[in-house]
Amino acid sequence: MQIYTIASGSAGNCTLVRDGDTAVLIDVGISTKRIVTALRELDMLPEQLDGILITHEHGDHICGLNTFIKHYDIPIFAPRTVANHLSWSIAGVDDYLTVLPPGQDYTLRGLSVYPFHTPHDTPESVGYRLKGSSVFGFCTDFGHVTDEILEGMRGADAAVIEANHDLEMLRNGSYPYYLKRRILSDNGHLSNDACAELSAELYKYGTRKIILGHLSRENNLPSIARKSVLGALNAEGVDTENGIVLEIAPENAILRLIVEDESLC
Ligand SMILES: [Zn+2]
Ligand SMILES: [Zn+2]
Repeated sequence: MQIYTIASGSAGNCTLVRDGDTAVLIDVGISTKRIVTALRELDMLPEQLDGILITHEHGDHICGLNTFIKHYDIPIFAPRTVANHLSWSIAGVDDYLTVLPPGQDYTLRGLSVYPFHTPHDTPESVGYRLKGSSVFGFCTDFGHVTDEILEGMRGADAAVIEANHDLEMLRNGSYPYYLKRRILSDNGHLSNDACAELSAELYKYGTRKIILGHLSRENNLPSIARKSVLGALNAEGVDTENGIVLEIAPENAILRLIVEDESLC
């Protein structure tokens, strides 16, 4: 399985997962032009995509969809409330939409797709677990870790986890009070500390490759996010030099992560 974060953060999100001859995007929060350019860099055409999984209705996750569907016939998958939002906000999207109820597996060619609810300031939002030759968990845009998230993410070989902000940077930063409150709320975004705790928990259940995503440009730094997570893993006795791959998803560049199928080794 290959995971490529194409864009990550509040300016736009898009991740490609390839496994065998199956390829899916998670979120389309960047322009069609950028997606096509990124896919070309990876020797792929948009027509080769088998589906697009949408996490929630915020613009940084769906703003490219309107143009994308005018050019490409790719099935789009989303939970009910998100699908309803897309349906009334994007003309013509109904032709491509399939509702995926959270808490159930869905087969999308060579991948089993399992959406699970995440607590965020939208009527509905989800993360996804994808199972093919490996298991991949994707979870960004959530204010705190719930049992549903743990259930969805535990056992993943590789994961993208939100590390949105450093608490001190956010508290002392220039954001207006209402926005700080929103981000810090249970339905906001995940702090480095909470991400670190979740990363250590997932490690216990076998996760060995972690990408930190959706970092705030204002309230975080890759070095700080990395330090928080490494600190939590060290505290659990993890050999962070050899025992784990920890990457940071760049805001505007492709990050590639290969997840080996252990059974083939
Ligand atoms: Zn977002
Ligand atoms: Zn969001």
